[in-house]
Amino acid sequence: MPDTIFHKIIRREIPADIVFEDEHMIAFRDIAPQAPVHVLFVPKVDFATLNEVPGSEAAVIGRLATAAARYAKQQGFAEDGYRIVMNCNGDGGQTVFQIHLHLLAGAPLGHFGTPGG
Ligand code: AMP
Repeated sequence: MPDTIFHKIIRREIPADIVFEDEHMIAFRDIAPQAPVHVLFVPKVDFATLNEVPGSEAAVIGRLATAAARYAKQQGFAEDGYRIVMNCNGDGGQTVFQIHLHLLAGAPLGHFGTPGG
């Protein structure tokens, strides 16, 4: 059974600043925010990376993205804008191997994706 730090948060074994939860996912503030708003949306089904998600499970990803957009609207920054990101494996900078979507907002975010940047 996979047992990442995010599974421990889902099971309430370690604390987190949870902003949303339903039967499909949990969302909580990133412990090391990279923007004024930095929330992680984590599904309750186990996939280590995006590579493991089959097309038949595309709704798992769709639900994360639409929950992030709904949160942005509720919090009032949807029109100003935001970024959603999923990191995959080493070159993508993934460090926790339970898939998750980053929602970043609250300031102009600039460009990204520069090798080494
Ligand atoms: P990634 O690098 O895409 O795998 O993202 C993992 C994210 O999880 C990083 O942005 C970390 O800051 C964040 N993180 C790690 N541990 C915790 C924690 N206990 N609570 C909240 N966020 C965490």
